[in-house]
Amino acid sequence: MNTLVINKKDLLENIEKIKELVAKSGKDDNGNSLKIIAVVKANGYGLGIVEFTKILIEQGIKSFAVATKEEAYLLREAGIKEEILLLTPNNNKEDIKNLVEQDIILTLSSKEDAQNIETVGKELNKKIKVHLKIDTGFGRYGFIYSKREEMIETLKQLEYIEIKGTYSHFSVSFFDEKYTKIQFERFINVIEVLKMNEIETGLLHISNSSAFVKFPYMNLNAVRIGSAFLRKTLF
Ligand SMILES: *Cc1c(COP(=O)(O)O)cnc(C)c1O
Repeated sequence: MNTLVINKKDLLENIEKIKELVAKSGKDDNGNSLKIIAVVKANGYGLGIVEFTKILIEQGIKSFAVATKEEAYLLREAGIKEEILLLTPNNNKEDIKNLVEQDIILTLSSKEDAQNIETVGKELNKKIKVHLKIDTGFGRYGFIYSKREEMIETLKQLEYIEIKGTYSHFSVSFFDEKYTKIQFERFINVIEVLKMNEIETGLLHISNSSAFVKFPYMNLNAVRIGSAFLRKTLF
């Protein structure tokens, strides 16, 4: 399982290059630097999720994202205390409770998710940290970008949920510039509508590795970088 597809020297070089690119992108209107969320799913892209994450932490990366709850637990079991965002929603209340107890940030992608998370939050009597997921055309999870009323109705009533971020995912950023731009515009549009309705949006992020390299203007507040740490030809 732990097939090393890249040697450590190349990996460290890539991490440096990504950090340089991030530093070059400057600060946002509030004086915050662009945040790197390192995606370590799929067993850390084959490197071994714990090993890969530990190398990234040594290089100063502070925020991580995973695709499954098992991956999140593996990191916590290995003693990793950094911020972890789970990129998939979960509709099982027991799971939600366990994830919250492990301080994992959840993805809120639907009205049903909101109801489940609210129920658990009420039980624990605490505000549960989430990132909202907007579906701008990828079609897996998320509030559909065009169904604004449903989105707003759901998000206006939250009592036990704290929105720490809002994100979407590009389906084809590696080769379809036109569709990527359409998705970006849909996302920005949704953010405007949420703000108009006084819904907290938190940290905004949409770019994966390819978009980060090709479309820096789409960086917003954070970028989710996975494969760029491992590619030889990206830069
Ligand atoms: C895998 C994944 C990423 C990272 O994608 P790369 O192309 O490897 O950088 C970012 N966001 C989500 C939601 C993902 O599933």
